[in-house]
Amino acid sequence: MVPSAGARRALPVAVAAVTTTMLVAAPSESWQAGAACQGRGRLFDREDAAGMAAAQAVCGWCPVRTECLASALTEEGDAAEAERAGVRGGLTPAERAAPARVAAAGRGLDPAVVTRAEQLLREGASVRAVAAACQVTLERARELRGAFGVPPLAPVYPPGPVYPTVAAAFTANVRAVGGGHVVWTGGGHVRVAGARYRRNRAAFEAQHGRPADGRVLTTCAYPGCVAHLSDNQTRGARRA
Ligand code: SF4
Ligand SMILES: [Zn+2]
Repeated sequence: MVPSAGARRALPVAVAAVTTTMLVAAPSESWQAGAACQGRGRLFDREDAAGMAAAQAVCGWCPVRTECLASALTEEGDAAEAERAGVRGGLTPAERAAPARVAAAGRGLDPAVVTRAEQLLREGASVRAVAAACQVTLERARELRGAFGVPPLAPVYPPGPVYPTVAAAFTANVRAVGGGHVVWTGGGHVRVAGARYRRNRAAFEAQHGRPADGRVLTTCAYPGCVAHLSDNQTRGARRA
């Protein structure tokens, strides 16, 4: 995305000038005369991942990178990522906004707690474990995870077979008990083609040929029966 006019104004003179197609303004600070991005305005205008990576490569050999980054961080202050434009000093807007995000997420906490949370999160701890170890709320632990740019953990599925379809999962996990009732003999969840289903949802979908809409409830008196189930749609149809 091309930076807005406001965002362009936030760029250092050496960069702002070249991002408007060519260097038209004299550098206002001495370090800017050595900027490696001079004449590379189109590249530094890009905000896609590949474009920013290429711009960062230029910054990698820029002789004034330290000065450029210091200038950018001073100028941008605690602005949000969206208010920062382009690669500056070798960092993307997200990377430059990270310290401000961490400061916001760690507000009121002892810095040692924030450091501990970062360490645990980077080691792969869950937000629940971080919340317990650092004595913060789950919400705060999630906020810290986002601020440190640590992705959520992939869901951990219980061991067991992976069925190709919900119908196959249903057939393999039920037993008829008479009177038209059927009980589930497997665990609380089943894995179907990599997704995890609660047993009632799998049973409903297998019998109705569509995913359940909303809560799935048993409609008969037989304990644990998964042959007689309702969802929002079937309950609505019954009421109509
Ligand atoms: S560090 Fe990057 S953005 Fe800053 S002056 Fe050098 S090349 Fe340009
Ligand atoms: Zn039943």
